[in-house]
Amino acid sequence: MKLLIPGPVTTSPEVKAAMAQDFAPWDNDFRKLYEQVRARVLAIAGGAADTHTVLGLQGCGHFAAEAALRTFMAPGDKILVPLVGAYAERMARLAREAGRQVVTISVDQNRPLQAKIIADALAADPSISHVGMVYSETGTGVIHDPAPISAVVQAAGRRLIIDAVSAFGALPMDVSAHPALDVVIFTSNKCFEAMPGLSFAVARIDRLDACKGNAGSWSFDYADVYANLLRPNSAGVFRFTPPAQVLASFSVALDLFERDGGQPARLARYLANKAALYDGMIALGLEPCLSRALQGPVIVNIHAPDDAAWDLMGFVDRLKQRGWLISNFYNTPEPSFRVGCIGAITSDDMRAFCAAVDAVLADMGIRNRSARRLAA
Ligand SMILES: *Cc1c(COP(=O)(O)O)cnc(C)c1O
Repeated sequence: MKLLIPGPVTTSPEVKAAMAQDFAPWDNDFRKLYEQVRARVLAIAGGAADTHTVLGLQGCGHFAAEAALRTFMAPGDKILVPLVGAYAERMARLAREAGRQVVTISVDQNRPLQAKIIADALAADPSISHVGMVYSETGTGVIHDPAPISAVVQAAGRRLIIDAVSAFGALPMDVSAHPALDVVIFTSNKCFEAMPGLSFAVARIDRLDACKGNAGSWSFDYADVYANLLRPNSAGVFRFTPPAQVLASFSVALDLFERDGGQPARLARYLANKAALYDGMIALGLEPCLSRALQGPVIVNIHAPDDAAWDLMGFVDRLKQRGWLISNFYNTPEPSFRVGCIGAITSDDMRAFCAAVDAVLADMGIRNRSARRLAA
C-alpha cells in the first residue's frame, strides 16, 4: 500500500527498519544521535550555531505550532494571521485558545500571499506584535514565499512565525536571511519522509532568551526545552520521554535526504511527481482545482466529477483495493479529492496511480469526469 496523502507519507524500507529496536532516551549513544540530528537540521535550515538552535518536541505539527505561539508571544500579544487556507485557520485557533489576541485577514486563497496586504495591516495596527504564516498551505496546495513577507515584517519592526510543516525539507529555507523570524516549525513525517510523532522548531536564541516565562505551559514551552539542553549534563536529553524510535528513523531519513542531494533534489522529485499527477489527471478528463502556474509541489486538489455515481468514500475504497491510499475528506469549498505528491514515491508511482484512477472511475460507472455537468 502506498500513501498519497500530504503526511504522514510513504516511507522507505530503511526508515521503517530503523524503528525495530529498543532505545533508552537518556543513554549516551541516543543523546549523541539527537545532538547530531539537531546539528544536521540546523545546517539544512541555514542557521548558525551562535544565532539559531533546533528544538525537538514530542508530538505532531499542531503541538509545535502551539508551543511556538505560546513561547514567542507573551499572553495578550497580538498576531496577524492571513487566512490563506485550512492550516492558517488552525494557527489562528491555536493562538486564540492560548489566550493570545488574533487578527485575521481574508485573502484570495488561490494566490500567493501579497506582501502589501501584510504591510498595510501592520501599518494600520501598531499593536500587532507578530505575523503568523503558512509556507505551504496544505489546504489549497498554494506555496506562499516567506521572503517578501519577512521583509515587510522586518521593515515594520514586528516578528514572524512560520508554519513550514509541509514545506521544510522540500522548499528552500534559510533562517539566517530572515532576521524578523522568531521560529519556523516542521515535523518528522512530511517532506523528510520519516515516521510521525516528532516535531522540530528552528528558533532564534536571542528570542528564546527574551521569551522565558511566556508560555504558561510547561509542556509547550520552547524556552524551557532550550534551557534544559543548556543544563549541565543535559545535552541531547529531552525533558520528557521522546518517541525514540521516531527519532532513530528520522536520522536514517536524513541520511537518505542527504544521499539523494538534499533540498533541491527533494523539490525536483516532488515537482516531477506533481507534474506527472497534474498531467495525468487532465489526460483522464479530470480537473485540478488550481491553474498550473499556482499549483505547488506538495498536494494537488482535483474537482470531484459532477456525476451522480461519484462518491468520495467509494472512490477511496476502490483505490485502496488497488494499493493506493488517498484522503477520504477534502479541504476545498467545492467537492474535490486530494492527492499528496510527497513521500518516498516517484513520478512512475504517480503514473501508475493515474491508471488506477482511470480504472476506478470506469468501475464506478462515472460518465462525466468534468466538474461541470454534461449538457443533457
Ligand atoms: C500537516 C500540517 C500541520 C500539522 O499537522 P499535524 O497533524 O498536527 O502534524 C500543520 N501545518 C501544515 C501546513 C500541515 O501541512
